[in-house]
Amino acid sequence: MATKTIYYIEGDGIGPEVWKAGRPVLDAAVAKAYGSDKALDWQLLLAGEKAYAETGEHLPKATMETLAKADLAMKGPLNTPVGEGFRSLNVTMRQVFDLYACIRPIKYFKGIESPVKRPDLVDMVVFRENTEDVYAGIEYQSATPEAKKLIEFLVEEFGAKIDPTAGIGIKPITPAGSKRLVKKALDYAIAEGKPSVTLVHKGNIMKYTEGGFRAWGYELADEEYAGKIIREGEKGAGVILKDRIADAMFQNALMYPEQYSVLATTNLNGDYISDALAAQVGGLGLAPGVNMGDNLALFEPTHGTAPTIAGKDMANPGSLILSGAMMLEHIGWHEAAALIHKAVEAALTDKKVTVDLAAQINGATQVGCQEFGDIL
Ligand code: NAD
Repeated sequence: MATKTIYYIEGDGIGPEVWKAGRPVLDAAVAKAYGSDKALDWQLLLAGEKAYAETGEHLPKATMETLAKADLAMKGPLNTPVGEGFRSLNVTMRQVFDLYACIRPIKYFKGIESPVKRPDLVDMVVFRENTEDVYAGIEYQSATPEAKKLIEFLVEEFGAKIDPTAGIGIKPITPAGSKRLVKKALDYAIAEGKPSVTLVHKGNIMKYTEGGFRAWGYELADEEYAGKIIREGEKGAGVILKDRIADAMFQNALMYPEQYSVLATTNLNGDYISDALAAQVGGLGLAPGVNMGDNLALFEPTHGTAPTIAGKDMANPGSLILSGAMMLEHIGWHEAAALIHKAVEAALTDKKVTVDLAAQINGATQVGCQEFGDIL
């Protein structure tokens, strides 16, 4: 029997209940697809509040050491501890393991009532750069000595026009950071036979950061993908590489979703666009994702710990289950992943769904987290 070890973190808030409902669905899909030939070997890792209670650390050393050697893991949502000196645990993990690509598929499931007219045409995958841009955390509060000094320097050295009371943020975007993200998107599009990759940027205003991202994306395609990629408007075979300015992209994604397949974008654009697109196809309860580097792929639902519904058997385990399906696809267990997609679609068309989806589907029967998992 082929077993694949999956390290997993339950997470805080609704984490334990979505795992309890979701994990058996993943095991059942593997068993149904492969009988006793394949199985998942789940290994629990401590993190978050439970870890703090047991070890005094939110991200225990043992967990971090195991993940440093792992190629694959899944996690539930983690609370960002409130108080001085705490960084988000999620951001810490992304930085420590250099998980530079946040990948989120946005696909319509039959049965969802969407705010857009043709949700059935929505089939996109967003590749969001995860380490640079305004998220680098280089920001200075208005009127602090640091902000004043920086403004003084920019005014004196470069003649920049900046009000001395401004708060200041820095937006670093590098050729290497942009190229490795675009590379992930191009490799994925080629491997999966996707029709196009669109570079989404705001280069008309931010020429050397967002514009740089666009230019480096095309440069990479010219350097490494000759014969596999063609530019928009060119004749020939291959994945079409095009670009769109971010504001136009938001409009286009809503009005002409059929024109877009894989999107590659900078951190802030990606943050906005992946949530906006997810809202077309069911929202947070059905939004899977992965944070991926060159060594580790960490699959996780995109929602947080939903503290107001935690422990009430109300959470939708769909996002976790679909993240598991993504993980199965990543390891090439496509048959099991397909079974999961089929089961989710069947539950949606039967209109037996958790509270978040019941609010979006006319005539739906509301079921609990565990029951939704059992139905799947
Ligand atoms: P949230 O995603 O937890 O909740 C936003 C809204 O969506 C709430 O109304 C919630 O009830 C609902 N919701 C979320 N997931 C749901 C599900 N599976 N089923 C049904 N409804 C669901 O976002 P938030 O309130 O901004 O954050 C709460 C905590 O989660 C914070 O501590 C935050 O730092 C953390 N967080 C963690 C992650 C992560 O681990 N990747 C992501 C986002 C937020």
